[in-house]
This record gives sequence, C-alpha cells and structure tokens, in this order.
Amino acid sequence: MWQAEIRVDLGAIRHNVTRLRSGTSAEVMAVVKADGYGHGMVPVARAALEAGATWLGAATVEEALALRAAGIEAPVLAWLIAPGTPLGDAVRAGVTLSVGSQEALAEALAAARTVGRPVRVHLKVDTGLNRGGAKPADWTALVEAAARAQEDGRLEVDGVWSHLACADLVDHPSIDAQLAEYHDALAVAARAGITPRYRHLANSAATLTRPDCHFDLVRAGIAVYGLSPVPGETFGLRPAMTVRARVIVAKRVPGGEGVSYGHTYTTKAQTTLAVVPLGYGDGVPRHASNSGPVLLGGRRRTVAGRVCMDQIVLDCGDDPVRAGDVAVLFGPGDQGEPTADDWADAVGTINYEIVTRMGGVRIPRVYD
Ligand code: PLP
Repeated sequence: MWQAEIRVDLGAIRHNVTRLRSGTSAEVMAVVKADGYGHGMVPVARAALEAGATWLGAATVEEALALRAAGIEAPVLAWLIAPGTPLGDAVRAGVTLSVGSQEALAEALAAARTVGRPVRVHLKVDTGLNRGGAKPADWTALVEAAARAQEDGRLEVDGVWSHLACADLVDHPSIDAQLAEYHDALAVAARAGITPRYRHLANSAATLTRPDCHFDLVRAGIAVYGLSPVPGETFGLRPAMTVRARVIVAKRVPGGEGVSYGHTYTTKAQTTLAVVPLGYGDGVPRHASNSGPVLLGGRRRTVAGRVCMDQIVLDCGDDPVRAGDVAVLFGPGDQGEPTADDWADAVGTINYEIVTRMGGVRIPRVYD
C-alpha cells in the first residue's frame, strides 16, 4: 500500500511529443535535463523517442552519459559544461557537446585527440539571453577556428544554436531581435564554411507560437511534460505528473487551536484536521503554507498552517475524511484536482519549478 507517490503518465508524454511534431516540420529534441523536469529522465526519454522525438537535451555531461548508460543511443546534446570537465567518455559515447567559446573548443578538441576520433559539436551563439554562448563580437573567430578544426578532421560541426530569453512573452520585441541576430550568426558561419545540419533556436514557447524560429530542430522541455509555457493557453497538451498521498491521521479538534509550526493557522470551530505525508523534504514549497491547494474528499482545501519537512495539514471542517483517504496535490486537473499551474500561482513561481522540485529521494515515481 503506497503512502505517497508521483504518478507519471507516459501516454501523456507521448501525446505531447506527437502534438509538438504535428505543429512543425522540424525535428523535436525532448529536453530531459534535471531528471526529466522531475518526471524521471530515462522513462521520459524513452517515451519521447517512441513518439518520434529524434534528439534528447541534457544540461550536463553526466546527464548525457546516464542516458547512454541506460542504453539510449539517440543523439544527445549536453550544453552546460564547466571548464575542466573530463570529456573523453562523452566523445566515446557519441554525446554532442555545445561549444560557445574558444576555451570550450580547445577542451573539446583535446578530448577528441585523446580519444582518437572527431568530436561532434553544436556551436552556440549568444543572441541576447546573456548566459552561455559566444557574443557576436567573438562569434567570427569561434566559427573560423571551428572551421579549421573541421577541415583537419578533428571536429564535426553538426549544429549552430542559440536560446531565447522571452519566448513565453508572446510578441516580446526581443524575440525578433534574437531571431535577426541568429540569422546574422548563421551567415557569418556560412562565410567561414560552416553550414550545419541542425540550426536550432526554439524552446517550447517558440515551438508553439513562432514557426519562424523552428529551423531544423526545436528543443521542447516543459511542453513535453504537458505544461504550458504561456499562461492561460493549453495548446492541447496533457500534464503528465500527478502527486498524491494518503491521509496519515484525521482527528477532531476544537475551535481556536493553532495548527502546525508557528501556529500561523487557527481553527475557526470544531473541525477535522487531516495530516498528509508530504512536505518540503519532498519538494512541496514551504511558501505553500496557508496557500497550497489540495483535493481531498471531493473538495479543494488549502494547506492549513506551515508546510513541514514531511507533512502538511488540511482543515476539512465536518467532512467525513478518514485516515487512508487520498489527497491529490496536483495533476492534470480533469478530476477536480489542482494543477501545477494552480500551485505555481499559489506560491508565486512557475509550473516548471513545481514539477521539477517534486520527488526528492523518498517518493516513488510510478509510471502509467
Ligand atoms: N533549450 C535550453 C538551452 C534550455 O535550457 C531549456 C530549458 O530551460 C530548453 C531548451 C527547454 O525550455 P522549455 O522547457 O521552456 O521548453
């Protein structure tokens, strides 16, 4: 008998990848970093590939190698690589590395020399996000150096890419500005002799709203998990994660009682309090104290008092709630339960953070 669980609907993952593919002629990269946004990297990767994704997106080399260790042979791009990271295993495993600076290029080439085979890279240009990637002023030198290494057979430039800052803000002027910078960067690369097979710029939001940003490959993360990057729109996506737990204790208490640490909630009248075994140790945000919505006994309730490390308390009034009843923190929303978006609104964050932080180490993930 389970106490708390994260259910992940792999059918929803497949549906979402199919939905994304139907809106583009580009290939789809399923971004599975951060343990598949909290859904489990390997099962999500497999489901996405079954539905026709052709690439997987990892942040770190470790994540990319974990995909290989699980027997997944699809192309994988790793884009968050600290200087000095050992890259030999990644080159041997055929992981594609993002390169956005001369230093990163030198390290990729050193790994290629050690392993004795060319390293496959996607060159990254910073078109305005101001995180990784070469700024336009450094881009010409980077593509020229990469072109020389490619001619020598030490490197294969398989892609040129960039990342948008404000794609979720539909019509934000920075999208056009970044798109123009990206076109310029492609032209500079072409003059240096680099015409990559994969040009890619779009995240989920741009995949769903900006066909002019699709190029050859789109990198979709949040939409794969069925959550919308654009508030107020669903795009026909199906949320894949449901978080639920069984009531551990239900008991009657008088009115005027303080509840949970700090007594930030006080019962108004005699009532039933239900204790649910999920807390911030499992990823429930502590900011959900007195605001997080939960479905229990057919009704939406609000977390009463502080979220503890392992538990939350719900005030159920005179409803016949008992130990063993199932409380749903969030899910697709089609059975009256709150959604990850409801939780994001309740705690002042985004749906990405709500799902990614869930799980920790002790709640089992169950795959449907
Ligand atoms: N591309 C890069 C470089 C990313 O870092 C991410 C995620 O943050 C994505 C694509 C996917 O973004 P989204 O989840 O908004 O689709």
